[in-house]
Amino acid sequence: MDYQQVINNIYTNLKNFENKGTVASYIPELAGVDINAFGIHLKLINGLDFSVGNAQQQFSIQSISKVLSLSKAFSLVQNKLWSRVGVEPSGNPFNYLTLLEQENGIPRNPLINAGAIVIADVLVSELKNPKEDFLKYVRALTNDDRITYNYKVAQSEKRTGFKNFAIANLLKSFGNLDNDIDTVLDFYFHQCALEMSCVQLSRAFYIFANHGKCLKNKQYISASQVKRLNAIMLTCGFYDEAGDFAFDVGLPGKSGVGGGIAALFPGNFVITTWAPGLNQKGNSLLGMKALELFTTKTGRSIF
Ligand code: GLN
Repeated sequence: MDYQQVINNIYTNLKNFENKGTVASYIPELAGVDINAFGIHLKLINGLDFSVGNAQQQFSIQSISKVLSLSKAFSLVQNKLWSRVGVEPSGNPFNYLTLLEQENGIPRNPLINAGAIVIADVLVSELKNPKEDFLKYVRALTNDDRITYNYKVAQSEKRTGFKNFAIANLLKSFGNLDNDIDTVLDFYFHQCALEMSCVQLSRAFYIFANHGKCLKNKQYISASQVKRLNAIMLTCGFYDEAGDFAFDVGLPGKSGVGGGIAALFPGNFVITTWAPGLNQKGNSLLGMKALELFTTKTGRSIF
């Protein structure tokens, strides 16, 4: 299959699409991103790479980081995680509060904000220097030391992340946060402010397509844990649009409000997109379309 041709065609078809959605502005520092940016990157399991558009340009990975933090926490504390966070889709937006109160401070899953904040709490407890150690983990996964946090984005979210403060307070009130709220959220805002390009993101997600091993064949998490992480991505990676993503694209994946998406076919490939315009559910509008075209045209989805 001529993958370069396939992604080139998708890029050309969508590049001038009129409705590109809306750039996230509730984190003020993200509001200035160019709505016309668009990149796609495909990495096959044998390491071959195919890129088009702005695939080398870094962007704020935001909630995509939740999968990376979850993988680290899962490898550190194993199944102890699941007494503090569930694995059911929430059917609600990423920053929804009501369910958390109804369900006594146990977030539905680790990919909504409440769940990811619990995971951040686990990492703050388990890592000696949480922000440095987490960055080291991501750099090791990708074999790329250029990856870093955008401190302006982290500060910007710290100033305006009122819902996340509300979530953390609610978690704390139910006894589901061991560390203090400011420390946990400081870590969470930094993890979300990681910047990566599509190319770098494909490398980071390679372990989920390769039974837990990176490109250098180092085992980061077990094959059985990867099975579970991919199941969580498939059912919860797109919040109240997870069903649509499974239906349209048919791959486990994760989106972020920076406009990125990382998706994968275990044993086959990782595909990443970046298009900053979001749909009403906070997922990249062109990214979802691009991935739908990719799996439809190539016939390569888990279904
Ligand atoms: N940092 C963002 C938040 O907590 C991440 C949300 C997202 O990417 N969906 O609101």
